[in-house]
Amino acid sequence: AHLDRIAAVDGAVHAFLHVSDEAALATAADVDVRRAAGEELHPLAGVPIAVKDVVVTQGVPTTAGSRILEGWVPPYDATLVERIKAAGLPILGKTNMDEFAMGSSTEHSAYGNTHNPWDLDRIPGGSGGGSAAAVGAYEAPLAIGTDTGGSIRQPAAVTGTVGVKPTYGSVSRYGLIALASSLDQAGPVTRTVLDSALLHELIGGHDPRDSTSIPEPLPDLVGAARLGAGADLTGVRVGVITELQGEGYQPGVLARFHESLELLQSAGAEIVEVSCPHFTYALAAYYLILPAEASSNLAKFDGMRFGLRVEPTEGPVTAERVMAATRGQGFGDEVKRRIILGTYALSAGYYDAYYGSAQKVRTLIQRDFAAAFERADVLVSPTAPTTAFKLGEKLDDPLAMYLNDVATIPANLAGVPGLSLPSGLSDDGLPVGFQVLAPAKADDRLYRVGAALE
Ligand code: GLN
Repeated sequence: AHLDRIAAVDGAVHAFLHVSDEAALATAADVDVRRAAGEELHPLAGVPIAVKDVVVTQGVPTTAGSRILEGWVPPYDATLVERIKAAGLPILGKTNMDEFAMGSSTEHSAYGNTHNPWDLDRIPGGSGGGSAAAVGAYEAPLAIGTDTGGSIRQPAAVTGTVGVKPTYGSVSRYGLIALASSLDQAGPVTRTVLDSALLHELIGGHDPRDSTSIPEPLPDLVGAARLGAGADLTGVRVGVITELQGEGYQPGVLARFHESLELLQSAGAEIVEVSCPHFTYALAAYYLILPAEASSNLAKFDGMRFGLRVEPTEGPVTAERVMAATRGQGFGDEVKRRIILGTYALSAGYYDAYYGSAQKVRTLIQRDFAAAFERADVLVSPTAPTTAFKLGEKLDDPLAMYLNDVATIPANLAGVPGLSLPSGLSDDGLPVGFQVLAPAKADDRLYRVGAALE
């Protein structure tokens, strides 16, 4: 049914870069046989899933939205893909994204735009617009995204879906094409909070192949989601972040946010206002730290090892000139912009002024979170300041595009988990996202509070 749905609507939505019909049907058939034989299966066995194209999949093309990886077929599976396969979820295919996950609209993909299923003239968010649009358009009930600065949560917000960025280190990064290694985290995109909890538990947990993986079991996420469905939040302190509301936020977004707060209050939660003064600098620090790490991670795309290789048309064919020609043609403008920014910020003589200062701001943000979580069990804000904007609207203005990430970026800088769930429609008829943040390793709180709002 989902493959039929993809065939019917993906021409207009363009959520997928690759559809794996045969493999998906084979997995589904295999699950049927195992179920008929009485085998005990994972609760999500047989439920199809779409995977963001930044996650490597053995034998299935993986491009990360970039020309430079066109034609590359990975020889191995990411850990999270291994876990999905072992549990018997048919993988429908790979979803569109901003090139190397840089962007907030999916318009930086080298393979065309993805359209928001609510209004095809609008962006589906980014960088994981394909995964969110696939779930929002009923092409897939579950999807995998990655979130370095909001790329799971902001697309979820603007497509009316649920998206979760787990605690840093709680879902393996083995087999993710790295953007910024200290910020990247994979997580679920689904239609309900309980679905996210089930998928999060499946893909999460310790992995010795990721050196930053937390060697501890996850908290009981599914149990927390089930508990929340009763909507009793007595004793839960919900902190409203002063700095993440007001100026720059669309009135319809704020109206839905305040209604959700009232719902939490009527479920028994105590609402407190908390200030996180350094969040004002989070965006600036992020857009130094991310390009610095990205410029280093992307150095491996040199025309020698993976995908595209361009030889200079004139002159000697030296390694350096092949590299320059390949990177010149293979990378898009946003990727080049960030490589240049990052290389500059890391240069001798500039390191302390830029990268060093940004790392200090990062520490201050972590302290803001620590202080806020003394006063509140979870923190909340709108997920994004606006609803989905029009395709093309911010493409020529990188700063305007970056501003869409103000509310999502602090969580990545501190490594704490965050969930976005739908909180109704704004005056323009488009979905609004409500963000819940919890302390590191307390992802269960996201599910308890999120489920109470559903
Ligand atoms: N919009 C952010 C950026 O462009 C999000 C990146 C991400 O989470 N992958 O960096």
